[in-house]
Amino acid sequence: MSESGFGFDTLKVRGGYDPREHNFAVSVPIYQTASFELGDTDRVERLLRFNEDGYLYSRMGNPTVTVLEKRVAALDGGTAAIAVASGMAAITYTLFSVAERGGRILTTPHLYGGTVDSFKRIYPQFGVGIDQVTDPNDPEAFRRGITPETRAIFIESISNPNATLLDIQQIAAVAHENGIPLIVDNTFATPYLLNPLKHGADIVVYSATKALGGHGNVIGGVIVEGGTFDWANGKFPQFTEPHFLLRDDAGVERSFLELAPQSPFTLRVRLTYLIYFGAVLSPFDAYLLLQGIETLSERVQKQVATAEKIVRYLESQQGVAWVSHPAAQGSPYRSLAEKYFPKGAGSTFTFGFNGSGAQLETFINSVRLFSYQANVGDSRSLIINPPKTTHGELTPEELLFAAIPPETIRLSLGLEEPNDLIADLEQAFATALKRGGITHGNQKEQ
Ligand SMILES: *Cc1c(COP(=O)(O)O)cnc(C)c1O
Repeated sequence: MSESGFGFDTLKVRGGYDPREHNFAVSVPIYQTASFELGDTDRVERLLRFNEDGYLYSRMGNPTVTVLEKRVAALDGGTAAIAVASGMAAITYTLFSVAERGGRILTTPHLYGGTVDSFKRIYPQFGVGIDQVTDPNDPEAFRRGITPETRAIFIESISNPNATLLDIQQIAAVAHENGIPLIVDNTFATPYLLNPLKHGADIVVYSATKALGGHGNVIGGVIVEGGTFDWANGKFPQFTEPHFLLRDDAGVERSFLELAPQSPFTLRVRLTYLIYFGAVLSPFDAYLLLQGIETLSERVQKQVATAEKIVRYLESQQGVAWVSHPAAQGSPYRSLAEKYFPKGAGSTFTFGFNGSGAQLETFINSVRLFSYQANVGDSRSLIINPPKTTHGELTPEELLFAAIPPETIRLSLGLEEPNDLIADLEQAFATALKRGGITHGNQKEQ
């Protein structure tokens, strides 16, 4: 099926898949196989020299996983994508790919907790340095943060957990002036709400575990490349040097850029990180993600609408000190939301619980419909206290720097009736605040 010209909702159910190539199966088949018949010795030569497309072993590629990769690439307008076993693998493989030879990554304090922990404790052990801008709202801060070793800027398009936004186009301009790519974790936004590549980003990463899959039943990650970044600008020899796996018929080694000028980045992730470090997505998990993506627009539309209702409800509550969502009154991100998120700025966000630490715990223990768990983007609504869980490894100073004070509660809205969700919050506020009455102001001690 030719992909050109189709709209998002067509691509999300059909992109990357031609039933005629799969025995006319309507639903994408699960190729539950570790390995593939090589045919004959001539064919294996052609496969290994990249003269024929085909599969050898499922750690290098699998037809079910390929459909997922092509579909997500189509939804984001990328030239290629690679699926991996988790969002963390997508981030690590991507950032190591650009910074692996002693490079540095410039980022913000507004990141997923696992990303923060790995940046602080794991990356330095591999010789990859991390720099954080102190004011991500100021694009000039990114310009000032770049060093000769910086190999990429990494941001979250809608940040975890506070749903803060950034001026992606301006940050992309700073990256490109310095010959480095902008890499965007677009997990909270999904390709339905935002296509970062269209705003100048060069690589997009996803925790597909979240809203892409959307049903809380699979861990996965995806990396998408835009195909326009100049990897030959001298800062990234790993893309222009001859590589031992890329020998041609005469045995001469080629570079990733020579072999795949439109998709050198994802090919290199596949032939270095995926096949040797091995965080491979299983065909069954790829199938579950494809199934989830079929209803991405419908789910996200409803979740965004519900989020806006819940924001309004929370703003009217005495038990709420603040609400951090771009649709909240007085949010500093309203104009960025208008520019980048006309369809809504996501359905995962935070609010400040206006009460004691004990009352906050009673509140969380009192919800009946919201599930208390460390996930987002599920079809069910979820609640969590990030300072003690998802961001529990941050020091008190880091929590303050990341704007996650002790009273922070994160909600991820699902597909239930909004009124049932509001009734659930209502009864939990009543239970939590009846003991000791309502305290006014942000009571921060736990
Ligand atoms: C969950 C999450 C990740 C990590 O993804 P996993 O699939 O859990 O490995 C990365 N980034 C963001 C923004 C996330 O929410």
